[in-house]
Amino acid sequence: MNIKFFGATKEVTGSCHLIQVNNKNILLDCGMFQGSHEHEKHNHDPFPFDVSELDAVIVSHAHLDHTGRLPMLIKEGFHGSIYTHNATVDLCEIMLVDSGYIHEKEAFWENKKRERKGLELVEPLYTTDDAKITLQYFKGLNYNEELAVCEGVKLTLRDAGHIIGSAIVELKITENNVSKTVVFSGDLGHKNAPILRDPYQVKHADLVVMESTYGDRLHRSWQDTWQEMGEIIAHAKSNKGNILIPAFTVGRTQEILYEFGQHFQEWQLKDWQIFLDSPMGIKATKVYAKHSDVYDKSASEVQGNEQGIFELPNLHMSESTEYSMKINQINSGAIIIAGSGMCTGGRIKHHFKHNIWRKNAHILIVGFQAKGTLGRALVDGAKTIKLWGETVQVNAKIHTVGGFSAHADQQGLIDWYNGFDNKPPIVLVHGEEEAMEILAQKLKHQHQANVIQASFKQSVTI
Ligand SMILES: [Zn+2]
Ligand SMILES: [Zn+2]
Repeated sequence: MNIKFFGATKEVTGSCHLIQVNNKNILLDCGMFQGSHEHEKHNHDPFPFDVSELDAVIVSHAHLDHTGRLPMLIKEGFHGSIYTHNATVDLCEIMLVDSGYIHEKEAFWENKKRERKGLELVEPLYTTDDAKITLQYFKGLNYNEELAVCEGVKLTLRDAGHIIGSAIVELKITENNVSKTVVFSGDLGHKNAPILRDPYQVKHADLVVMESTYGDRLHRSWQDTWQEMGEIIAHAKSNKGNILIPAFTVGRTQEILYEFGQHFQEWQLKDWQIFLDSPMGIKATKVYAKHSDVYDKSASEVQGNEQGIFELPNLHMSESTEYSMKINQINSGAIIIAGSGMCTGGRIKHHFKHNIWRKNAHILIVGFQAKGTLGRALVDGAKTIKLWGETVQVNAKIHTVGGFSAHADQQGLIDWYNGFDNKPPIVLVHGEEEAMEILAQKLKHQHQANVIQASFKQSVTI
């Protein structure tokens, strides 16, 4: 049998790997390329494999860099099953449909320009309808349930602890009476993170395919992170400003709400009005609330109380645009959580317009900010920003709270690999070249691992 790598090779997006065994073809993930405009053009490339030959698709988790091209598979004639965790099915219902909507809008605006120039019109990558059709092919599983996906291939999903429903994919493969185990880490979670369990430790594999996003870095401790959050909230209260938190709608938003509940007294949150100003964030929070069976011990205990783990007495869920605009009129005492996580769009930009020029406003950066994004400019100390063509002064205090991450850090990745009893060969994916190289050297020289750094279209035989 062999495995071929068609994405997330020396980069963090576009996860897509193909396993070939017993004349069957099983695709692991079908993610979108994300980042610069140039890079995203690759989403329009034809798939580098024959879609009509696919027998099954397995999806590790709902992030678009792992699922975003699934509707294109269906458009190109794949009619088999897409296996994934039940919570991932629920998240994809929100995220893939939203992605279809964004592609429709992008094509609409592009075509306006093209019409004026007399150029040929473009089709959206896929539409909301394509995304909805794709959902019909999903088959939801629980963790630790074994299922035969095709001849000689048994699938078990293990908890990856990255976002709700995220899975490590364990495949028991039998070919010519020989059985082998392949383990694909998906995106591995950060130990001791709020709400979710730590990544499941698989003990045996004949080949491990592991992410390497933070292969070159160690995270700040959760303890320090919570302390810093508390200090910033106290500071903001003393100078009577608003706090703006740009947050990813899936994962980070729920972690913040949960920790607000846990530190409600300590951070004196009763003195604030808290707004979740994000229709997507509200929907994702409902998915998190529904799948309480995958919570870690502490979150399960909190769940035991009458209120859900995200409920706060002064939390306002803001769905409509009218409501969101009303929040803009508050000058003091509001904590506003809104997307997008890197400040590239969404309602957070409107809140910036009404707050970022104020000296007493505070912006809390709680997620990774990629190069070229508005969030990154703020982290790097921009004195002014452009919002819809208007130059706005940055007088607010920008705080970068470092410890939040949905990914294991270098030590977390090494520990997970060392948890295998038999030192299996390992292929690194889902990491930028430098991070991957540093992790590969450590694994090779300090942990005696046989390491391959996957390159595009590379094939590895077991
Ligand atoms: Zn992810
Ligand atoms: Zn990812």
